[in-house]
Amino acid sequence: MVTILGAGVAGSSLAWALARRGRKDVVVFDTAHEPAGSTSKALGGFRTQHGSELNIKLALASRSFFVQRAEHIHFQPNGYLYLAESAEVADDLRRRADLQRACGLPIEHPDPRSVVPWLDTKGIEGANYCALDGLYVPLQILGCYVEEARALGADFRLGTEAGTRDLKADVVVVACGVWSSKVGRTLGVALEVEAVERGVFQTGPYDWLGDTVPMTLEAGSGFHFRERDRRLWVMGPGDQHDWGRIRDWLAMRAPRAAVPEPDGFFTGSYEVTFDHHPLVGETARAGVWSSCGFSGHGVMHSPAVADSLAAMINGDSPPIDIEALNPQRTKPLVDSTQL
Ligand SMILES: Cc1cc2nc3c(=O)[nH]c(=O)nc-3n(C[C@H](O)[C@H](O)[C@H](O)COP(=O)(O)OP(=O)(O)OC[C@H]3O[C@@H](n4cnc5c(N)ncnc54)[C@H](O)[C@@H]3O)c2cc1C
Repeated sequence: MVTILGAGVAGSSLAWALARRGRKDVVVFDTAHEPAGSTSKALGGFRTQHGSELNIKLALASRSFFVQRAEHIHFQPNGYLYLAESAEVADDLRRRADLQRACGLPIEHPDPRSVVPWLDTKGIEGANYCALDGLYVPLQILGCYVEEARALGADFRLGTEAGTRDLKADVVVVACGVWSSKVGRTLGVALEVEAVERGVFQTGPYDWLGDTVPMTLEAGSGFHFRERDRRLWVMGPGDQHDWGRIRDWLAMRAPRAAVPEPDGFFTGSYEVTFDHHPLVGETARAGVWSSCGFSGHGVMHSPAVADSLAAMINGDSPPIDIEALNPQRTKPLVDSTQL
């Protein structure tokens, strides 16, 4: 039996991948009845434009999952547009593009206004764009995993804590997002995952946005937005509850959206590890595995990470070698594109 703790995108995608690989003995426990973790708060970005070969590979291998379910998850292949707000950042974007092209990505350097006509590009020194990237509705992704895994025999026990017998299964997987450290401790394993609060402001609705707006990010500052339901959903650095800093940035880039008050606001937590990469694999305690700490990009990589992890749990060779993500690693992985 495989016991998975946590029915967010990490746990549910693993159940899906194990079920697709023929396992009929997968049980997923979640202490909550409804998704209440990071998955329910995600912005809904899918990007191939990462800064390491492994992360690009995982994104490319994940993409077909999103495309095949496009209608159900509202996948919009609108791309990701990175803006360089200084010459130094433009150099960095060019270096990223070299690596990304070497990994097969069709990176372009468009005039940003040809992609987002209403963007104010004052001071912008360059841009990277990839048409493989896109947007979706995160809870619909979770719904697909649960529905498809259940159809293949996986048992989801929501609102239920795993009992002593369940925790004695041959394989127990900690997929509890920001709760993984605590849950890991109860199983005698150290999983260092920290909750970092992130605020999402909404402004709109606006008819002038159009429906082909890519995820748009200022690469140096980290401010970024997506369009959803004719609104802009905006995130950025600094005090996560302060609309003023978001409004000031919008006044520069999308002045018509820099209104006195936002239309909506919520916060969620990034589940952050020491090197902003997840802890995926078998822990120091044989039989206890982890899939957690995705550090703010767990939805986009979930299909490929889950498939490789499922193969490893089954003793098969994984389609992508994810040994680098082993929870016992001490050497930090590097990818400068992680926010
Ligand atoms: C504001 C924001 C924007 C984001 N934007 C993006 C984005 O654009 N693209 C992207 O890919 N990612 C994004 N992310 C990150 C993404 O949401 C996470 O990486 C991902 O959802 C993590 O999934 P998870 O299953 O590990 O954790 P969660 O979704 O938090 O699930 C963990 C589950 O564990 C359960 N649990 C806790 N304790 C126990 C226990 N003892 N037993 C059983 N279950 C337990 C919880 O109830 C919860 O359901 C964003 C995150 C935030 C906060």
